[in-house]
Amino acid sequence: MCQPGLRRSASCGGPDRARLPVQVRRRDERRIPSGVRYCSRDRVTGRPRRYHRLVLSFSAQTRTANLARMAQDRFDVLVIGGGITGAGIALDAAARGFSVALIEKDDFASGTSGRSSRLVHGGLRYLEHREFGLVRESLRERGLLFRLAPHLILPVPMYMLAGDRRSRTRYGLGLTGYDLMAAGRNIGVHRPVTAEQVRQAMPGLGAPSRGYRYFEGQTDDARLTIEVARTAQAFGAVLANHVRAEALLGGARVAGAVAADEMTGERFEIRALVTVNAAGVWADQVVRLAAGGGAASAAGSAGSGRLRPSKGVHLVFAPGTVRTTAALAVPSAAGDGRYVFLVPWEDRVYAGTTDTPYSGDLDHPAVEAADRDYILAMVAREFPGVNERDVVASWAGLRPLLNQDEPAADARTSDLSRRHVVFEDPPGLFTITGGKLTTYRAMAEDLVDRIADSLRRRSRCLTPSIPLGLHGPVRAARGLATAEAARLGLPPGTGARLMQRYGDDWREAIRLIGQDPSLGEPAVDGLPVLNVELDLARSREMAITAEDVFVRRTRLTTRDASVTRPAG
Ligand SMILES: Cc1cc2nc3c(=O)[nH]c(=O)nc-3n(C[C@H](O)[C@H](O)[C@H](O)COP(=O)(O)OP(=O)(O)OC[C@H]3O[C@@H](n4cnc5c(N)ncnc54)[C@H](O)[C@@H]3O)c2cc1C
Repeated sequence: MCQPGLRRSASCGGPDRARLPVQVRRRDERRIPSGVRYCSRDRVTGRPRRYHRLVLSFSAQTRTANLARMAQDRFDVLVIGGGITGAGIALDAAARGFSVALIEKDDFASGTSGRSSRLVHGGLRYLEHREFGLVRESLRERGLLFRLAPHLILPVPMYMLAGDRRSRTRYGLGLTGYDLMAAGRNIGVHRPVTAEQVRQAMPGLGAPSRGYRYFEGQTDDARLTIEVARTAQAFGAVLANHVRAEALLGGARVAGAVAADEMTGERFEIRALVTVNAAGVWADQVVRLAAGGGAASAAGSAGSGRLRPSKGVHLVFAPGTVRTTAALAVPSAAGDGRYVFLVPWEDRVYAGTTDTPYSGDLDHPAVEAADRDYILAMVAREFPGVNERDVVASWAGLRPLLNQDEPAADARTSDLSRRHVVFEDPPGLFTITGGKLTTYRAMAEDLVDRIADSLRRRSRCLTPSIPLGLHGPVRAARGLATAEAARLGLPPGTGARLMQRYGDDWREAIRLIGQDPSLGEPAVDGLPVLNVELDLARSREMAITAEDVFVRRTRLTTRDASVTRPAG
């Protein structure tokens, strides 16, 4: 819904509706007086689906207005951290009717949520660790996300090679269990494949063998996070990036935070009944703020606490070098029992990940030579001829893994659970750590249930039926976007790509290109990103710095690290 004080955009509330096919409008939508649209019925609950209105602006101006509100109002919930977990909590709480503020010290998804393997998956390998509950929950969430963000989460065929009978039996049993656990929400059952089928799917593979094909979901994690953040704003949450929690307010009970605007240096207090620490690998630092440690003493590297961060690195390969149309899960070349993924991404392929204990600077995890070697060894073994010169970009992220009770000193981080925990300590400060990108919605539901109990406010979680950035059927949107892009003379595939990355905002992109055809030109020669995407990042996605635009909104620098971005 359009927020008071925000610019009312052309697409907010509806001129774009006029372009929807008439039968779609008549069947799926009717307006009710509150301005919230009810569109058909939820297949799971049978209740009418509640959709917020179409897109809204989410810009530097929105941020300025939000900062003013943060300093003036008193909120039910203040969320610290604008990764997928914090954004998911802001959305869940706002949709239940709580007043919510969220601050992020850097940019949305600048932490782990923009540096993952980008898979929305059940986690087949967790079956080995007998984490059946985690796998079941992840598969349920995977199915739900396919429905809520069908433009952003795409099915990706995944292959596992099994040349010998023993591994074929083992994988076959595992995948059968996986499919059964996903029953009702599966995105495609597994099936055995011949060596020839493997070769066709992955022409560059050195030694194709028999194996299995199954399906997982693939997303752009930073785009998913920004879409959840925007949806939270549409439900009334007040969000700002580049704002750091420097100290916590209150005595025995935490009552909000002292915030610092990283762009201006200005400080102000945000008062809230409940404060949520969704700071990912920085969560221990935020807990230390409650003990009176200021930002300076709390900042720094990973230390003792409830978290045991682990670093994961990905390498991106130039178009045409790793020749595959499908994803591949293979044992690493190090013989450590880990699996590494190769995943096609538009015209390139990325591979990862490593999983090593980390105790360095949390703000700047680096891709070391050992990380590169680990991944390259696997890629070169499977795809002969690929070498270091084919790597065009890379990223490193930190997993917020839980320090399990008395872990053996040499416990590998890959053995630590991906479960999440919620605890309230000290009173008024709820910390949520661990978890996965895939399960962010369930994590948020769990946490907001706890908050509702503590505030004695009965509420029901609505996020299973809140779409994330695309309203209406994805096929109709793709068809319309394709037709509109063709009308403007844009290259084939442009409309579908804009719809896939920007959801409902594909209309705004097309409208802007219609007004200024230069916006339909590539932002960088040889890359699919258009100039209009740089505009959308600032006007609709609260990108404040060039890094926000280039690294996370458009992914220009993770496509090709040699792309230079303007300062600022
Ligand atoms: C290499 C790797 C691969 C992964 N692959 C997958 C995958 O394929 N699928 C999957 O489901 N999961 C995956 N994960 C896990 C998933 O990415 C994480 O669980 C998830 O992104 C964590 O999100 P978060 O919001 O908790 O943390 P973050 O994204 O790190 O967000 C925390 C935010 O808090 C902010 N913050 C910290 N301190 C403050 C402060 N004082 N004031 C204000 N803001 C603050 C930070 O800047 C940060 O943006 C992967 C993780 C890694 C590292």
